[in-house]
Amino acid sequence: MLDQNKISKDTMWEATVTCNPEYDGKFFYAIKTTGIFCRPSCKSKTPKYKNVSYFFDAANAQKAGYRPCKRCRPDLKIKKYDPLESIIEDTKRIIENNYRKNIHLIDIASDVGVSPFYLNRLFKDRTGYTPRMFLEKARIEQAKELLLTTTLNSTEVGYQVGYISISSFYNAFKRSTGLTPSQFQANYVETTTE
Ligand SMILES: [Zn+2]
Repeated sequence: MLDQNKISKDTMWEATVTCNPEYDGKFFYAIKTTGIFCRPSCKSKTPKYKNVSYFFDAANAQKAGYRPCKRCRPDLKIKKYDPLESIIEDTKRIIENNYRKNIHLIDIASDVGVSPFYLNRLFKDRTGYTPRMFLEKARIEQAKELLLTTTLNSTEVGYQVGYISISSFYNAFKRSTGLTPSQFQANYVETTTE
C-alpha cells in the first residue's frame, strides 16, 4: 500500500530502537539471528542494525520463515497485544454500558477478575482516570447530551444518567463543566442562537 511505502527504512529503524508504539500495525521487524519478528513497540532487546529486515505484513514475515515473538505477538490481528489492556477495555465497556445504574468499583473489579485496589491503580496508570472518574465522565457527557437534546429538566437528567442523589449530580456536573446543569443549558442555547 502506498502509505506504507512512505515509511523509510531510517524511520523504521528509529521506531524499532525507540520501541515506538505509533508504528504498531504499520510494519514489523524481523531479526535474522533469532528468526523472530516483532512489533515496533516490543520491549525485547534491541537488535543489531545489520540483522534487521522489515515487513509490512505479518504473514509475509512468517512466509519468509520468521516466527512471531511471544512477547509482542505480532501474529495476532490486533493493533497491539497487551493482556492488561484487555482489563482496561473491559472496564471501559462495563462502565459505558452500565453508567445509568448504580455501579461500584468492587463489581467491575470482580467482573474483570482483579482486586478493586489493583484495578483502580492499573486503570489510573493507563488512562489517567480512576474508574470512578471515568464513570463520572461518561455520565456527564450523557447528561450534556440530554440537556441539549431533550426537554428533560436537570433533576430528571441527573437520575437518567445514574445519579441517585441530585446534589452529587450537580457537584459532578459543576466539577466537570464549571457550570450548573441549568447554566450549561442556558449558556449553550444563547451561544448557538447568535
Ligand atoms: Zn517482540
